[in-house]
Amino acid sequence: MAEISDFLVIGSGVAGLSFALRAAEKGTVTILTKKERVDSNTNYAQGGIAAVFGPDDSFNLHIQDTLDAGVGLCHRDAVELIVRQGPDRIGDLEQWGVEFTHRDEAGNPFDLGREGGHSKNRIVHVKDRTGQVMEHALLECVHDHEKIQVKENHTVVELVTEHHLMGRDEKKKDSIHCWGAYALNGKTGEVEVYLSRVTLLASGGAGRVYQHSTNPSIATADGSAMAYRAGATVANLEFMQFHPTTLYHPQGESFLISEAVRGFGGVLRTEDGKAFMERYHPQKDLAPRDIVARAIDAEMKKRGESCVYLDITHLEAEKVRDHFPQINEKLLSLKIDMAKEPIPVVPAAHYMCGGVLTDLEGRSSIHGLYVTGEAACTGVHGANRLASNSLLEALVFSEKASLSAFRYLESNKNKLPDIPPWDDTGTFDQEEWILISHDQKEIQRLMWDYVGIVRSDERLIRAGRRIDLIAEEIKKFYKKTKVTPGLLELRNLSCVASLIIRSALFRKESRGLHYTTDYPDRDDSHWLCDTVILGNQTFLRPLSES
Ligand SMILES: Cc1cc2nc3c(=O)[nH]c(=O)nc-3n(C[C@H](O)[C@H](O)[C@H](O)COP(=O)(O)OP(=O)(O)OC[C@H]3O[C@@H](n4cnc5c(N)ncnc54)[C@H](O)[C@@H]3O)c2cc1C
Repeated sequence: MAEISDFLVIGSGVAGLSFALRAAEKGTVTILTKKERVDSNTNYAQGGIAAVFGPDDSFNLHIQDTLDAGVGLCHRDAVELIVRQGPDRIGDLEQWGVEFTHRDEAGNPFDLGREGGHSKNRIVHVKDRTGQVMEHALLECVHDHEKIQVKENHTVVELVTEHHLMGRDEKKKDSIHCWGAYALNGKTGEVEVYLSRVTLLASGGAGRVYQHSTNPSIATADGSAMAYRAGATVANLEFMQFHPTTLYHPQGESFLISEAVRGFGGVLRTEDGKAFMERYHPQKDLAPRDIVARAIDAEMKKRGESCVYLDITHLEAEKVRDHFPQINEKLLSLKIDMAKEPIPVVPAAHYMCGGVLTDLEGRSSIHGLYVTGEAACTGVHGANRLASNSLLEALVFSEKASLSAFRYLESNKNKLPDIPPWDDTGTFDQEEWILISHDQKEIQRLMWDYVGIVRSDERLIRAGRRIDLIAEEIKKFYKKTKVTPGLLELRNLSCVASLIIRSALFRKESRGLHYTTDYPDRDDSHWLCDTVILGNQTFLRPLSES
């Protein structure tokens, strides 16, 4: 039996939860989330949310910083939208119970942090636990809401579209509609049907496509993969942001050392103690992320060293510990005292700037399918995201999407079509975890080695050939195997890895996060466009066409 709600939300990070709270004002909401509700990139965000509050700051400055970071590919209208809405969306978060760190002196409403690429202090934060505090506050509001139900351990398998309809005539329609999703219930092992006229895809990022990532294990690019398979347009997937500074520690899981540490005065040094960022950019350690990540990569390769060091020991120890309690605690657990010794760091995959292409209301190319948060490509980030703009983007676009979804529901009151249950005839339970984990590692390693911070045509072609082979094997295995969360993630990882490679090979220039030694220069005469993928076609879309 299908479950029906007015709004179906896929994902319980900031994009999904903030949309759900607004949608519940007009109807019933079901949130599907693949692990526990708190498992999300949102929960790991440290630095904070960029918004204009400082006395010396302005919307124009924030807009300009975002456009500069995006190296010509940001859509100005999308950037203006998020920047101008920033203060209001921070106000919403306060209403939902988030208590930001306030400044006692000088009368400013917030303690505003500074991050790379920002010309002013404008990062609103809760010390270095912003994401965790936001996630918990939003979950509490959702928990208290009688119109919202959260289904944990429900991994969405596919979006429901015309493709799944029983009647052939319906299948033939050329425009695609989304009517919900098939989701695997982790407890029963059954695939259930969730129907709705409005589906919000808020399934987050793609960091786990790579071997080294700051992202938690949920970030397996499911959103782009599912939407692409359903026939949606995806864009700009070559622009994966590598965070310059994650902890380098043989025993520790990769752990982000926030850019705010450099904003606070931290300096990057090579093993011999020499600062090097002044050789790469006038803003030194606070240069945009792509430049810092490439500089670290270059220094490590040149010197044959496995990491560089982030040094904040010249600042007052108590202030450092007070400002970065979470980072300090994590480092102390690994016997590193950040106030007394430099922190060993390396870059890691962090943020996917591309995703499912949307308009300014969060609408995808599929009717009834909205996409917000990291799964979306809204035009805000262009070729490189400005630090702390992503939580803001998720909040602003989820609000816009909710308003648009209300209008969509008003004008689409037709009966939902007859959707068949999940058909798994001909599939078997196969005890083949080794195949899944091996393929997953192989994809992640390939992407890290050949499709990472520095690329070339030869590396990309080589990676593409291997990924295609792995994807073909996964496809065959998928057809005869009962779905499991691991298999679904693997299938999505291979799909998006292949889309990233296609996009990277298509762009014959270097810009922002996409750097290739074959075309080391930026070429505005031809490439000032989005890289768009629809089915088998890859093409350029001029920015003016959004
Ligand atoms: C370590 C770290 C630090 C960061 N710091 C900052 C910062 O300071 N400022 C900033 O602006 N941004 C920061 N970011 C980026 C920011 O956190 C994310 O871009 C943002 O939280 C994304 O929110 P989201 O709701 O789109 O996705 P997420 O918060 O990742 O939520 C995605 C949800 O979708 C669910 N999901 C995924 N696939 C499926 C599926 N198939 N079925 C069902 N559910 C599914 C997941 O389980 C999860 O609940 C940081 C990211 C990381 C990893």
